[in-house]
Amino acid sequence: MKRAYRHPSASDRCPVCRGKGIEVHPGQVYAEAALCQCVGDAVCPLCAGTGYVEAPDGRGVRHCTCQSASRRVRLFNEALIPSRHATSTLGSYRHDDEENLPTFGRVMQWTRDYAPKGENRGLVLFGKVGRGKTHLMAAMLQHLALDVGVSVRFVEFSHLLSDLKGSFDRKSGSSDLLEPLVRVRVLGIDELGKGRNTEWEGTVLDELISRRYNAAATVLATTNYPPGRPAGRRTPNLAAPDDPEFRVNLVDRVGDRVYSRLRQMCDFAPLGGRDWREMR
Ligand SMILES: [Zn+2]
Ligand SMILES: [Zn+2]
Repeated sequence: MKRAYRHPSASDRCPVCRGKGIEVHPGQVYAEAALCQCVGDAVCPLCAGTGYVEAPDGRGVRHCTCQSASRRVRLFNEALIPSRHATSTLGSYRHDDEENLPTFGRVMQWTRDYAPKGENRGLVLFGKVGRGKTHLMAAMLQHLALDVGVSVRFVEFSHLLSDLKGSFDRKSGSSDLLEPLVRVRVLGIDELGKGRNTEWEGTVLDELISRRYNAAATVLATTNYPPGRPAGRRTPNLAAPDDPEFRVNLVDRVGDRVYSRLRQMCDFAPLGGRDWREMR
């Protein structure tokens, strides 16, 4: 993959990190990254341990790539990616369904095109449960933290709401908890539209999306609900989830304002093949 980070001291033969110098493993709750043991105490072959190398144009010096390894590890550990997605990488995505290849291609393109210093459109992956949406989003965040070196954060929508609810009950207000979710360069919201869909939940989501919109900050998301015009229902028919008569669209779940912001900020890509294609 283009732009993959490699620690100069890491061993290509290392079975744990395969030459990256950073390994990722499941922690108690969140996936955790650490410098790989193969890096050990070896003196960096590029900078001989000084931390500086000559700049490519011969003018002065710059930081050696070995110096950014611990920052990348920290960025990953601050992302709070769930443990079950520690091994969810772009390389480990399973292409069982040919219908998903175009979306996988878009995800790869997105990660290649991501401009660390520019504005980036987001991506919303929509489709039924079990199509690998969360795997792909976790993989994108992992790549951004470890290979690109930007701050990212994974948040499950319903967990965010219950955390916020707790903080409201203690009268501490929403802003403190939302602040880190506003500041981070790329925010990945899992299961967008899930929840009880109360007015309060709508207000919280509106605040979060509006603040990221105003900051021109990137949003990634997964959702079970497709884009499209309002179906006029707020709750899906759980007894007949596939019945188009009772289908609920994302706009029904998140409201007009949030939905139209998302359309402005993000592209939408389906996962799940035929079912979703037929609806357009
Ligand atoms: Zn290693
Ligand atoms: Zn070095």
